[in-house]
Amino acid sequence: MGLELYDLLSTLKQRTKTKLEKQPEVVEKDSSFDVGNLPVDAARWHRLSDVVAVVFDLKSSTNLERGRTPASTASIYDAAVGGAVKVLEQLGADFVDIQGDGGFGLFWGDSRYERAMGSAITIRTFSDDFTEQLEAKWKGAPSTGFKLGVASGPILAKRVGLARHLDLQEPVWAGRAVNYAAKAAQQADPKHIFVTGSVWDAIGDNEFLAFSCGCDSGIPGGTPSLLWESIELNKIPDDERFGQALRSGWCLTHGEPFLNAILDGQTFREDVAVDERSKRNLLASGSTDLIAARKTRETERQRVASDSAALLKAQSK
Ligand SMILES: [Zn+2]
Repeated sequence: MGLELYDLLSTLKQRTKTKLEKQPEVVEKDSSFDVGNLPVDAARWHRLSDVVAVVFDLKSSTNLERGRTPASTASIYDAAVGGAVKVLEQLGADFVDIQGDGGFGLFWGDSRYERAMGSAITIRTFSDDFTEQLEAKWKGAPSTGFKLGVASGPILAKRVGLARHLDLQEPVWAGRAVNYAAKAAQQADPKHIFVTGSVWDAIGDNEFLAFSCGCDSGIPGGTPSLLWESIELNKIPDDERFGQALRSGWCLTHGEPFLNAILDGQTFREDVAVDERSKRNLLASGSTDLIAARKTRETERQRVASDSAALLKAQSK
């Protein structure tokens, strides 16, 4: 049987016309979002006003396959990707998706930034050990490790797939969060976590995230210092590109209490010096460009919030 290409194309043409004319319904779901209950190919999307995406991507994964048996390549993927997924699961990711040698976790609702950053830093810490074990086992293995990007923003979701095949339906996430986190991860290297402007706006004041514990090569007692530096995320076209890079994983002495403090909602530390705090404050307001970008992001968040309010009001009628 031949494929009736012209029929297919003309069906698509008509479908596009109808879809664009009759816009889908968007339902605001901030308080009741359920990924298991997304509409399937209906003319309806569910919306979350703010989602945090953590994208992880294994560096040089194609080179890792070279000269290796399928079983040893498979063991590397299992160890790496499986480990990252375990971290996301433990830190309460609301959705996890794997795509080959990487994937992403989504966080929404309460403490979404804290859980997301906790995951990213834990994957970063795990990545160091994973890389060490890999290099010890296979001398001359290409340098690898996870590249990590974190971004946030509103998202639209529904299920897309073959209507009568549940196992062929996947949630789709439309919005900048996943896309920008992926762009940030692409630019990152395994020693740094890159976050977009809005993520820094949300976490920059958290002193458990912003400053070190004060250990010097694992020995406690030093002075807490700023762990971040400003970066420009070249592939991001708007003001989210004014991001920050974190250069460190968890300290093996203080990581656990720090992570738990973050998850508990603590933000203030008495041991951080005033001049370190000033350095931190300059990260997002050290130039007129940075100040303007921050302002634009704030305006954008207000616009998103008022969209949400309007949707909720319309829904309650
Ligand atoms: Zn420490």
